[in-house]
Amino acid sequence: MKIHIWGCLSGTEPMPGKHHTSWALEKDGFFWWFDAGENCARMAHLQGYDVRKIKKLFISHSHGDHTGGLYNLFLTMRKLNSLNGMHGNPVLPLPIEFECIVPDPELVDLIKKQLFFLSDEEDSTLKIKTRRTSPGILTDADGVSVEAVRNNHIQPKADGRGCSYSFRIKAEGRTIIGSGDVRSTDDLAPFLEEGCDLLLMETGHHSAPKLCLEWKERNYRIGRILFIHHGREMLKDQSEVAERCAAAWGGPVMIAYDGMEVEL
Ligand SMILES: [Zn+2]
Repeated sequence: MKIHIWGCLSGTEPMPGKHHTSWALEKDGFFWWFDAGENCARMAHLQGYDVRKIKKLFISHSHGDHTGGLYNLFLTMRKLNSLNGMHGNPVLPLPIEFECIVPDPELVDLIKKQLFFLSDEEDSTLKIKTRRTSPGILTDADGVSVEAVRNNHIQPKADGRGCSYSFRIKAEGRTIIGSGDVRSTDDLAPFLEEGCDLLLMETGHHSAPKLCLEWKERNYRIGRILFIHHGREMLKDQSEVAERCAAAWGGPVMIAYDGMEVEL
């Protein structure tokens, strides 16, 4: 299994070489895809991966730095379907069917409308299903379980739109936590208290060394720490932040970059 980082940036203005957040677990050639920042489909495709091999797509919350790449992801899937096996592109059995588990299915419906704006009918080669995220186990199939917990990054509107979630993935005896955007470590406590092999933690709203200190004090059992969704502190001087983190945590931490792969 592998973790792929398609984009490592928080919701900043455009930055050279870094794009808004998206990552995936790859297992047996398929992807469990988390968030869809601006560049995700392009990065995956240019690294030689077929984006149509997404088993499930999960969105932590509907902010643009986590959803801005959805349109281009769907568009790339359609394009690859139309080129199925041509120009060196792989052949897959059609139609491609996959499910987006998202806090706000209405957002995906809008993007699907945009995708098919000039078509008389929906593309029969691409079936995008949606499901509203709810706390608890979201999927447990093909050897991968994904569980969601509500966090306090954003407060939902009166009509229920705008919930935000963190994720815990279990596969091949490993546990991976993906923070999504969170208000504090407390949001992740239900997962962190049980330990994990890999934690993908956002730093767009937090100081990474302070987090390391906090986790150390709480005696959390975290196998490896991978910081992602970088904010100003991390962008200013990554190696200096990494040193402070290592001192606080008592061991090295990893800092995500676009195109990074982490073996599990
Ligand atoms: Zn964000």
